[in-house]
Amino acid sequence: MKRILIAILSLSLIMCSLVGCSSKDKNNDDDNKRIEVDSSDVKRSNKNNNRIVVIDAGHQEAPINELEPIGPNSDKKKPKLASGATGVSTNIPEYQLTLDVSLKLRDELIKRGYDVKMIRENNNFPKSNRERAIIANSYGKNKDSIFLRIHANSISDSNVTGALTMGPSDDNPYMSKENIEKSKLLSVDVIEEMTKSTDSMDKGIILTNEMSGINWCEIPVTIVEMGFLSNPEEDRLMNSKDYQKLISSGIANGVDKYFNN
Ligand SMILES: [Zn+2]
Repeated sequence: MKRILIAILSLSLIMCSLVGCSSKDKNNDDDNKRIEVDSSDVKRSNKNNNRIVVIDAGHQEAPINELEPIGPNSDKKKPKLASGATGVSTNIPEYQLTLDVSLKLRDELIKRGYDVKMIRENNNFPKSNRERAIIANSYGKNKDSIFLRIHANSISDSNVTGALTMGPSDDNPYMSKENIEKSKLLSVDVIEEMTKSTDSMDKGIILTNEMSGINWCEIPVTIVEMGFLSNPEEDRLMNSKDYQKLISSGIANGVDKYFNN
């Protein structure tokens, strides 16, 4: 039901499809086709040039335990940056995995013509969740933009596997109604396409008002939990290059879907 509702709400993105239609019509008017080329990639690239995707590789080499408000004007506080999980079989920390995937995702999105902004490109970036959101806001302000926050999960039950995304609840007190709706659409599109690509279990989307990493965002945002580092097999998979490529192309497919719906 929720997904149907969200699909209906995608009508608000109708501007994007209108732009798509007009460029298509123009191309059809070009009569003398000199070379037989599939121009869909070129068209997509041109269109995506003005679309900004900000990527945050979650965490960094050390946690920041100082507190910060979980959202604008909130009395509730949480540590600025959690330490993140560690792979049970690979022993690879989440901050390294999120960076590895984020760099592949960056390359994939650039290939598809997007203007990509990275919050961090190394493991020494001691900025809080709030500070990272504010950087993303500054990149995406007044632009057709989204913010992807890349994470991996961990839980005491090592049998649990699967991917999920997180977005704001309908009654999120920190974000605009428009941003809440767009963030939910983005969360749905990314989890559907990512799990299609990786063939991992789709655990759906979690809507929450407790994440500083969401609440401070003024552009559409989703937190991507790629899988469970607490599951030996999923840890090994996520830390393999081939699987990271599947994650990246799946997320990129979700981004395409979001912008083109
Ligand atoms: Zn994390």
